[in-house]
Amino acid sequence: TITVGVLALQGGVVEHLNLLRKAASHVQSSPPESTADNLQFTFTEVRTAPQLAQCDALIIPGGESTTMAIVARRLGLLDPLREFVKVQHKPVWGTCAGLVMLAEQAAATKQGGQELIGGLGVKVLRNRYGTQMQSFVAGLDLGFLGPGQEPFRAVFIRAPVVEAVIGEDGAAGSGVEGGKGAPVEVLGVYYRGEGQQQQEAGTGKGDIVAVRQGNVFGTSFHPELTDDVRIHVWWLRQVVDSLRHGKLVVNGA
Ligand code: GLN
Repeated sequence: TITVGVLALQGGVVEHLNLLRKAASHVQSSPPESTADNLQFTFTEVRTAPQLAQCDALIIPGGESTTMAIVARRLGLLDPLREFVKVQHKPVWGTCAGLVMLAEQAAATKQGGQELIGGLGVKVLRNRYGTQMQSFVAGLDLGFLGPGQEPFRAVFIRAPVVEAVIGEDGAAGSGVEGGKGAPVEVLGVYYRGEGQQQQEAGTGKGDIVAVRQGNVFGTSFHPELTDDVRIHVWWLRQVVDSLRHGKLVVNGA
């Protein structure tokens, strides 16, 4: 069985677990080609280092990244999390505050610095669109979901964006043992107040709101607050693929 954890210190944990379960049945009914039958998943909350060690992959949910870092530090989880991401190169996905946690750098805020897990060679800007009151939903074209897909209704709540790509010496590996740093890929851009035509013409600058580097994936928005399973399905397939290609060791297998 493939064990996928959701870091459950704070934030939108249950929502991810629910959508993961829904996504799993999609993946099971049309598994990646590399996969043998009987794809089994276990989804579990992670609050301790031993629980983390049971996981093949992890989601870090939205919430509040400073709080999450403080709690993780108190529970002795920061270093195990860094090890999970940067040494073991296991698949990790951060949504919103989770993206902040996975960034190598966060722009200084009024509150000052904060501890991060890192892994994604990017610098994030927190609260890019203002306060809770300025939350919004926007349709995003996400090419990685495949051709001809409907826009994804992305929920932005005090969302961070990727302000700069720092580069490929970020800590993320390709997942291959001894592999070099993987490139940072921009997988989603939000064009605020700009027309679809500009998007198509590629003239708008836009904000980077989805990014991947090797085993590490981050989104500014909250797919778990919708009932759209597409990104969860896509990510679970990535997890399955990375395990099946022998890059990573499946627990208990
Ligand atoms: N603004 C929060 C932070 O910087 C993230 C908000 C969210 O996860 N919805 O941690």
